[in-house]
Amino acid sequence: MDVIAELSGLIGADAVLTSKSDLEGATEDWRGRYRGPALCLVRPSNAEQVAAVVRCCARRGIPLLPQGGNTSLCGGATPSETGPAPVILNLARMRAVRGIDPVNSTMEVEAGCVLATVQEAAAAAGRLYPVSLGAEGSCQIGGTIATNAGGTSVLRYGNTRDNVLGLEVVLADGTIWSGLYGLRKNNTGYDLKHLFIGSEGTLGIITAATLKLHPLPTRHAVAWVGIADPADALTLLTRVQERCGARLSAFEMINRLQLDLVVEQVPGRRSPIETPADWHVLIELSDNSDGDALDMELQLILEDAFGDGLLTDAALAASDAQRHAMWEVRHSVSEANKKAGVGLTTDCAVPLSAVPAFIDAATAAVQALVADLPVIVVAHLGDGNVHFIPFFTFDAWNAVGNAVADREAMAAAIRHAVNDEAARLHGTFSAEHGVGRVQLGEMARYKPAAELALMRAVKQALDPQNLFNPGRLLPPG
Ligand code: FAD
Repeated sequence: MDVIAELSGLIGADAVLTSKSDLEGATEDWRGRYRGPALCLVRPSNAEQVAAVVRCCARRGIPLLPQGGNTSLCGGATPSETGPAPVILNLARMRAVRGIDPVNSTMEVEAGCVLATVQEAAAAAGRLYPVSLGAEGSCQIGGTIATNAGGTSVLRYGNTRDNVLGLEVVLADGTIWSGLYGLRKNNTGYDLKHLFIGSEGTLGIITAATLKLHPLPTRHAVAWVGIADPADALTLLTRVQERCGARLSAFEMINRLQLDLVVEQVPGRRSPIETPADWHVLIELSDNSDGDALDMELQLILEDAFGDGLLTDAALAASDAQRHAMWEVRHSVSEANKKAGVGLTTDCAVPLSAVPAFIDAATAAVQALVADLPVIVVAHLGDGNVHFIPFFTFDAWNAVGNAVADREAMAAAIRHAVNDEAARLHGTFSAEHGVGRVQLGEMARYKPAAELALMRAVKQALDPQNLFNPGRLLPPG
């Protein structure tokens, strides 16, 4: 029996898709940069079916590529051009919110549940699931766990790792490990869930999770601020933290080029402030206070900062609509950049105090390779996470050369130049997007040999046949 027939027998023919049109969206990444063939796309309905698929592939030695919303920015969820074609496993049918315990402040969900649905279900129960990012309308909770996604509220609530209490995972031999604990404390040996969080589909298939919820803030104060440079933005960040403590829930920074591209490329987006500025910061405070206390507090902070010459302009959102409009500008950056040209996205983090030096040094390093190359900066500044994006218009990119190899060599040289500066400042080349295939070279370049050896030992122990998402995360030995 061929594999398609066997899989159809195991999980139903309607759950095994093979036609070109069915595979199209799954075999190419979100930005259309990476693509490769697949044997089929399977859509199991429960963990037992996932286990059956895993056992079938293991017996036949067929690689398995777990895929969520396919929004990875580092080519983690699409097949390679070369090597054996995988079975793509998508959990979109496993999207139930199994239950919310408002007293324990936990929620059990299946891995295929879309992140926005998780947030909405939590909010309906008066709770907050805080992980928030631009792709939240399409990425799956399983994908965010597999990548340990960050996003815009990490400075207050931590990244995905900090908001997962338990997992259910299908292992390489088809065992279903049920670790759906809803405990804040559990010191019973190795905390196995942390192996799978951030493992990018290389150690097991995450089929369900118990998430940590938080009180749902009822008040939000949001401001958009024009600022002269990143050093001033850091000074402002420190001030807001000193005055507001944990009520600061986001502090995001973009540069002028990024705002211009959003306004040009995405219908309906406008600059929230009138005076042009080289740098822009979005600040959000949230809590459960009454009346306008929070707005007043943010206004006072901004007035003081303005008086001290820290700001060039500021707008405080006066309504929910204005608040959403400011966030929409921030969340439109990836869409704008994709439409405008080719951005060589990097994902560095450095100690906060080193952010201005990093941006200056990376700009100089990149422009030493390509004179006057424009640079987009999108930073989750509160976390020291800077997406430093050397940017080519489509014409400039085509001028790099006709051969794909020329462009890949150029992209690699530019990324190395940026990541070298992050490493020099004791930072990382991958703060939140993961490694996928794009950052494999960087793993080999920057990750200490002892860490790589440990990771390979874990991989060998959990996936001895190397069938879970091979060629991702771990560079060839
Ligand atoms: P996919 O892209 O489908 O998969 C990602 C990886 O996880 C792959 O290696 C895949 O094999 C593995 N995987 C998926 N599901 C499972 C599973 N059930 N079990 C095991 N492995 C699995 N990321 C951030 O961290 N912060 C941001 O602010 C951010 N903003 C973004 C904005 C936009 C517009 C876009 C397009 C992407 C953004 N991303 C961001 C990247 C991306 O959204 C995240 O990495 C997200 O977590 C991926 O989820 P997904 O469901 O799409 O996973």
